[in-house]
Amino acid sequence: MTGAPIERTQSEYGYPLLIRSLLRSGVTRAPEQEIVYADQKRMSYREFGERVGRLASGLARLGVKPGNTVGVMDWDTPRYLECFFAVPMMGAVLHTINVRLSPEQILYTINHAEDDVILVNCEFLPVLDQIRDQVEPVKRLVLLNDKDEVAETPLSLDAEYESLLSCSDPDYPFPELDEDARATTFYTTGTTGLPKGVYFSHRQLVLHTLATRSALAGTGHGRFNEGDVYMPITPMFHVHGWGLPYVATTLGVKQVYPGRYHPDSLVELIRREKVSFSHCVPTILQMVLSSACTQGIELAGWKVIIGGAAMPQALAKQALGLGIDAFTGYGMSETCPILTLSHLKPHMEGWDIDRQVEMRCKTGRPAPMVEIRIVDEEMNDLPHDGVSQGEVVVRAPWLTQGYLKDPVNSRHLWAGGWLHTGDIAVIDGEGYLKITDRLKDVIKTGGEWVSSLDLEDLILQHPVVIEAAVIGVPDPKWTERPLALVVIQPGEQISEAELKAHLHDFAARGVISRYGVPERIVFLEMLPKTSVGKLDKKALRQLYPE
Ligand code: AMP
Repeated sequence: MTGAPIERTQSEYGYPLLIRSLLRSGVTRAPEQEIVYADQKRMSYREFGERVGRLASGLARLGVKPGNTVGVMDWDTPRYLECFFAVPMMGAVLHTINVRLSPEQILYTINHAEDDVILVNCEFLPVLDQIRDQVEPVKRLVLLNDKDEVAETPLSLDAEYESLLSCSDPDYPFPELDEDARATTFYTTGTTGLPKGVYFSHRQLVLHTLATRSALAGTGHGRFNEGDVYMPITPMFHVHGWGLPYVATTLGVKQVYPGRYHPDSLVELIRREKVSFSHCVPTILQMVLSSACTQGIELAGWKVIIGGAAMPQALAKQALGLGIDAFTGYGMSETCPILTLSHLKPHMEGWDIDRQVEMRCKTGRPAPMVEIRIVDEEMNDLPHDGVSQGEVVVRAPWLTQGYLKDPVNSRHLWAGGWLHTGDIAVIDGEGYLKITDRLKDVIKTGGEWVSSLDLEDLILQHPVVIEAAVIGVPDPKWTERPLALVVIQPGEQISEAELKAHLHDFAARGVISRYGVPERIVFLEMLPKTSVGKLDKKALRQLYPE
């Protein structure tokens, strides 16, 4: 690479992009600001900063050194936030263990990440106990306990979190680190094979934080600024809680951590703590709305990024009708995760609700520094006409550089120097990306592609339908045909023919093609979900192979 060389002063400080600067920024800006743990605890940013130092001192006493890996099994708590900072700031790697995986998969990720120490919420002790004989060499265990009584377990525990912190020094001498040092690791459960590890450096997390912050700054709807109250409702093990806890801490806003999710207590926390900014998957938003309606609690003014899966238009309409500012975020484990946000452009904010819903449910425009293309199989760019569908490939400063210890899949991920998302999308004339499918979920029928996400969205627009999934099943004549799996409101009734008529209405208006309407609709009590609450199409395909 060429360019003009920079002149350096010998005593100059070559400021590395490190996670500790994010913490320092929040503590300096808002030392008295609060961090709240459900009904359990309140503390100031100043105290939080001290606790981060104490945690590092305590972990160092347990033997944690730069380069080690520290696994965490916890719900969404300020403790977890302390780990988000203390562990990488020590030069160690934070492994956010997905506690919703099966014990076998948890075991696999612990061994694959080579965790040296595990911090475990007492609720997950039985899981660890079940796999302890197969966990590779001696792990140090630190107990995370919200209860007064001592947890009973045959596992030998090395420390209890609060006792460890109380007898540790808040002034831990955090080392100078290389900004490219690995800070975090976690596992994504793809559709096939074993979980795959992704990893992010300090520099990447800092740039992701700053770019996300800048995408969310300023005026207009759906912005996250000083004065907001933040509460995550995506698990902190899932892509660092979408990176927003780092953004919130850097800003110095009030933060609320809900612990384990119970819809009623989430709604009560939003009301009591005046939470104004959150993010969650569509299924959680649905639960929160139902609970708020049952409890008679208003959520008007609440801003919420919906991501992880497409936001159904019916859900967006319901949320907007309640005065909730719901919009979409798109990304994946491999991308840290934020790639795009569906903020309306200023001229769209006056649009009627239906047109707004349409734009808010698209995946939106790229965050700063994100380059997005939609390409055909030869990596040719496709027109941004809202119709041409291609794979989304991306570049940004914060994408995983590969899969941990998995060179083959890493090469596929980065084929041609672009990260392949495996998602299919269109880009419209306004520059808004809209995901139409996963490559492996797309339904190929009679030589055409039918978008399973579009079909699900239309089915969900029927008032009695509460969940819908569409998968492709093999068909001798058409290659594949769509099969719809549907859950309806308890106490309601609808026949297959009525639901098909609902879809044929859309076909008659040209919203979908006629061959997109499934011949078969199966009514179920519930649909299987993944560990982070998304529709589990892999499980559905196994259940309905034909
Ligand atoms: P994960 O790695 O588990 O976070 O899953 C990432 C995948 O979720 C993406 O590749 C998309 O297929 C899907 N996804 C995430 N956000 C959205 C969204 N807003 N709309 C549609 N699909 C999404």
